[in-house]
Amino acid sequence: MSRFEQISEHIHIMHAEHETDRPILAHIRGSRKSLLMDAGNSPQHAAQFQEYLQEQGLPKPDYLVLTHWHWDHTFGLPAWDVPVMAQRITAQTLRSLADLEWSDAVLRRLSDEGVISDRTISDMKGEYGDIADMRVIVPDLLFADGLDIDLGGVTCSVEHVGGDHAEDSCFLYVKEDKTLFLGDALGPSVYGGPFSYTPAHFLRLISKAYSYGAEIYVESHGVPTKRQAFHDDIGRWEQFARIVERFGEDPDAVSRGMCDYLQTESLPDEFQSAMDYFMAELRRKPDGIVK
Ligand SMILES: [Zn+2]
Repeated sequence: MSRFEQISEHIHIMHAEHETDRPILAHIRGSRKSLLMDAGNSPQHAAQFQEYLQEQGLPKPDYLVLTHWHWDHTFGLPAWDVPVMAQRITAQTLRSLADLEWSDAVLRRLSDEGVISDRTISDMKGEYGDIADMRVIVPDLLFADGLDIDLGGVTCSVEHVGGDHAEDSCFLYVKEDKTLFLGDALGPSVYGGPFSYTPAHFLRLISKAYSYGAEIYVESHGVPTKRQAFHDDIGRWEQFARIVERFGEDPDAVSRGMCDYLQTESLPDEFQSAMDYFMAELRRKPDGIVK
């Protein structure tokens, strides 16, 4: 069952759905224009949000901005007939996928090349009855570092932040609503080898996220979170990344350091998985091959 919510004065969202990896979609309304954040993972996904927007009497978006190129954020583009703004690498990657005739063999090749993962393939098949129906649209308006969009009394700032998850990752900040959309930028690298995290990238992104002074934080596959709860949660991850930075390739020392910090006997599961991601990155050789 899809869920929709108005999370602040100018922002309505469609919540994330995990069965086929649908991320949050957001509609941001100013007095003159409206902006959509991310397109959805399929035209069906987009259509459900469109239906909600119509029911609410909200205007159709005038622009769409992408947080990064990953399929779950972009393959819904054929359903939105609006100018699409994206970081240059986002556009470049989508351009490389635009002429493909989607088949099992193509998906297999992309997975072998580390462009997508086996999980992506099963999610795509779950979302689309027939993967041959998938269509990729190339963005129209490109930026390198970021851009500001004036919607009339509402200002959106898009900033290219990069990181482990995708080098084209962007944050989107809605200034008047003090709401920061983080996309998937705080997530690990998910393609081209084991999931991996780099402490330095992670810490840089967290301090960038804090620097906005937002009251609401939204991760694309999570739920909108108030400032204090976000800081409490992310504070533990920040500490974890610092401990990994300090002890490096010594999981026992990292585990002990984190248990001391959390005052627990054993490392909670969520940190155990993160440990694997951090260690995978530490073992990754400079040429990108994992030892
Ligand atoms: Zn992603």
